[in-house]
Amino acid sequence: MSDLQELYQSVILDHNRKPRNFGPLDDASGSAEGKNPLCGDQVEVAVRLDGDTLSAVKFTGSGCAISKASASLMTAAVTGKSRAEVDVLFERFHALVTGRLADAEITKESLGQLVVFSSVSRFPIRVKCASLAWHTLRAALENGDASIAVSTE
Ligand code: ZN
Repeated sequence: MSDLQELYQSVILDHNRKPRNFGPLDDASGSAEGKNPLCGDQVEVAVRLDGDTLSAVKFTGSGCAISKASASLMTAAVTGKSRAEVDVLFERFHALVTGRLADAEITKESLGQLVVFSSVSRFPIRVKCASLAWHTLRAALENGDASIAVSTE
């Protein structure tokens, strides 16, 4: 493993151990529950929208280290962003974990902390673990007050 991969690994383990923005969200404007039956991951994402700005995002749930770290890093990455910015990040993250992002774009400048998931594309079974929270976030944003169950199947 390269030094960079070791560093990425340690960020993922840190977020798994001490997830950021974990817990219920007061005054949520939307929430959704996502399940990844393949691994047993489950996550509930709650969002608060102020106009077009995602002013707060929190999550609860349980699952493997990748799913939990991904939810934690996602909340940090999207808080304070507009819905359009969130969509751009989602597309970039999804391309990253499915191996469709050009090498030149797999940088901290382009992805921020999300770059730590760059090796996930080599482990297809982990792609759903990594993207579960993002699919659930999108459902929470799209469905306003409704709480629905999504599956990444
Ligand atoms: Zn998992």
